[in-house]
Amino acid sequence: MHFNIITLFPDFFKDPFNTSIIKKALEKRVISIDLINLRDFTTYNHRQCDDKPYGGGHGMVLMIEPVYNAITHIKKKHPDSKVIYLSPQGKVFNQEKAESFAKIKNITLLCGHYEGIDDRILDDLVDEEISIGDYILTGGETASLVFMEVVSRLIPGVVQKPQSVKTDSLSDGLLKYPQYTKPEEFKGSKVPEILLSGNHPKIKEWRKDQQIEVTKKKRPDLYRKFIKRGNQSE
Ligand code: SAM
Repeated sequence: MHFNIITLFPDFFKDPFNTSIIKKALEKRVISIDLINLRDFTTYNHRQCDDKPYGGGHGMVLMIEPVYNAITHIKKKHPDSKVIYLSPQGKVFNQEKAESFAKIKNITLLCGHYEGIDDRILDDLVDEEISIGDYILTGGETASLVFMEVVSRLIPGVVQKPQSVKTDSLSDGLLKYPQYTKPEEFKGSKVPEILLSGNHPKIKEWRKDQQIEVTKKKRPDLYRKFIKRGNQSE
């Protein structure tokens, strides 16, 4: 998978790309990333990429021209790149969406800043708007890191034990079962007996029941979806 990231702040990504999962994915060449500095694509003086909003109002808005130039540059190399604008107005990102994005070969992430972007950018240049949650970030950089990390974990070869991705919370619409490690007892609090039994079919059954119970308790919204899919009667 190849990511192109259009940003006013390429330095923002230095440490995250040099750490943990994204670093590993880059080293294994399972993913590759081109950081595109929006300021390299403006024709305005002083590398200006933003200006005041027409009609008045506070803050600055990213101009269409540098974004158009940057995307045209990317499309010359990667004509099929899917362009995603990270935006609080987008569809809310979740594990299911991440799974479908993980099948795409080339993704361009457009990071907004200031008051946002010239709305005409959305008309022809952007394929999809994605929000990472119902709150406002200062820029799309944090959102694109979240997007890249979540999607990269799902690409075969990135996480060492693929089974661990398959049993993560949300991968089957439910939260993960409770987990325990040493000691067997801590200040009177004991690990559930079944996990010490060595009876693996029973442990599997217990874990599935726990997944349902935990989801019902902590995320009733997910539990309702699970029931709706016809998985269990309420
Ligand atoms: N004024 C804009 C609005 O009300 O829709 C918000 C602008 S926000 C301060 C600046 C940039 O941060 C946005 O252009 C977007 O790229 C990014 N951003 C903010 N919140 C986000 C979210 N929840 N998900 C993804 N990107 C977000």
